[in-house]
Amino acid sequence: MFCPQCRLEYEPGIARCPDCDVQLVTTRPDPPEYVEFVTVLSTGNPAILAVAKSLLDNAGIEYFARGETASSWVGGAFGVGFNVATGPVELQVDRTKLEEAKTILDHIGEGASSV
Ligand SMILES: [Zn+2]
Repeated sequence: MFCPQCRLEYEPGIARCPDCDVQLVTTRPDPPEYVEFVTVLSTGNPAILAVAKSLLDNAGIEYFARGETASSWVGGAFGVGFNVATGPVELQVDRTKLEEAKTILDHIGEGASSV
């Protein structure tokens, strides 16, 4: 049993959450604020990255550029095939926006493949 409010798990037989005083439910409720980010574009080319970002900005899609500021691993295990000076950056979007983002980034993706 799960509390839909604080999401704590309780023993079967307990009907209410003592903390929240709400009826427990049988399935674990989805975290309301949880957003899963998935990679829609991976590039070591800052120009492509900038274009991709502005396209996502224009579309109102939230994104997260992974690897852009964390340079410590650049040139390590991830460095093969990429420019070590810049390193690959993974542009990640909300999973629910993935298809939309893919469509938007489709045409620049073709240019990115030559990197
Ligand atoms: Zn609770």
